[in-house]
Amino acid sequence: MRLSEYFLPILKESPAEADTVSHRLMLRGGFIRQAAAGIYSWLPLGLRVLKKIEAILRDEQEKAGAIEMLMPTLQPAELWKRSGRYDGYGEEMLRIADRQNRELLYGPTNEEMATEIAASALRSYRDAGKILFHIQWKFRDEIRPRFGVMRGREFLMQDGYSFDADEAAAKRSYEKMFVCYLRSFARMGLKPIPIAAETGPIGGDLSHEFVILAKSGESEIFCDRRILSLKASAVGGYKSDLSEEVSRWTSFYAAESARHDPKRFDDEVAQENRLAARGVEIGHIFFFGDKYAKALRASFTDRDGKERFFQSGSYGIGVSRLPGAIIEASHDEHGIVWPKPVAPFAVGLLNLNAQDKKCAALCDQLYAEMREKDVDVLYDDSDERAGAKFSTMDLIGTPTQLIVGPRDAKDSRAEIKDRATGERRVLSAEDALRALCEADRARP
Ligand code: ATP
Ligand code: MG
Repeated sequence: MRLSEYFLPILKESPAEADTVSHRLMLRGGFIRQAAAGIYSWLPLGLRVLKKIEAILRDEQEKAGAIEMLMPTLQPAELWKRSGRYDGYGEEMLRIADRQNRELLYGPTNEEMATEIAASALRSYRDAGKILFHIQWKFRDEIRPRFGVMRGREFLMQDGYSFDADEAAAKRSYEKMFVCYLRSFARMGLKPIPIAAETGPIGGDLSHEFVILAKSGESEIFCDRRILSLKASAVGGYKSDLSEEVSRWTSFYAAESARHDPKRFDDEVAQENRLAARGVEIGHIFFFGDKYAKALRASFTDRDGKERFFQSGSYGIGVSRLPGAIIEASHDEHGIVWPKPVAPFAVGLLNLNAQDKKCAALCDQLYAEMREKDVDVLYDDSDERAGAKFSTMDLIGTPTQLIVGPRDAKDSRAEIKDRATGERRVLSAEDALRALCEADRARP
């Protein structure tokens, strides 16, 4: 993409309404624009990040055996009356009436609808063991939308729903999603911490929130810092028994302030490993037994011909919260430092002097060759000063920069800069190109 032909509205000044680093950088870098409180347009650069996150989630969900579909944003109120949640949900639910005065709502989540779909199609124990997911916009009329896309009112969620014949199978689905979430977050360059969460009236230990550390986080968490060096793996794939993998992650102390037990923390965690910090919730998984299946009559015939209700769980990731959360975890004083797999562009090509014929010719040639090799490149071919070009590229955070000035152009050389480390090296144009193609392989 040539910057001169692109749509990238960079703000010179820091926007006054921004209340966190990520919000400020996303507004300044032209990733988003506020439409109303907690409602945002995703500008071209931001949309690229969102799409990359979606692609990782979709890929990992499918590896785990979950099946994608798409449910609507609008739902009939009647469905929620049947589950008993219509009145209980309160003011966060946006209620709408159509021209016939039929009650609708903008979905804040999809347990009811997913269960109703399952009820209509899954009939026998042979049909059980399905996980359906979608990636769809939600609306929750949050009392205090803030931190940009991190606590929006309209937000994109990846949410999945599992339907199993019995509790043991439901637990296996839960563990699959547990590992799937860990792996998805790791692929985005994040270090997720699973924290046991409230399970509500059903009890049990099958509810976890996934949190990443960030100064601006809304939760206060206490954990064993050794969790941060664990690596997510699904040795043998998602079909094998994942309970050991889940135990490995849940054996370390981790709690949110409301459930924190200071005595257990002191007893179980050596002083040097005790970590008290703020965190952002990026995902939440939940087993709720036959709660919705019962209410919406989602039953199947078991081997003995008996009618039973499905055992279910739901699994949600804040897709549009993630760009904000990732930036909170990965930025410096110059701007965003995107992990490669979610960067809007893998490479930024900077022509430091668009008036210089040799320089422009070399840049055009490098650009053409990168396009040929399918490298995800943003080419700053504009008439801006070199200084402005450096700051724009640092601000929007492309992981690698390829910089060409008139002096290097004369000898057919280019400089490669790594955004994260700041490390620079001058190479022949040919070698630089080769190095970049290598770097771009990290794409999902
Ligand atoms: P929170 O405690 O942050 O309000 P929640 O527990 O209400 O979130 P869930 O119902 O568990 O949220 O939704 C699943 C995921 O959706 C959350 O883990 C979070 O990443 C994301 N999410 C929830 N509310 C918002 C919001 N207002 N804006 C952006 N993402 C959100
Ligand atoms: Mg939650």
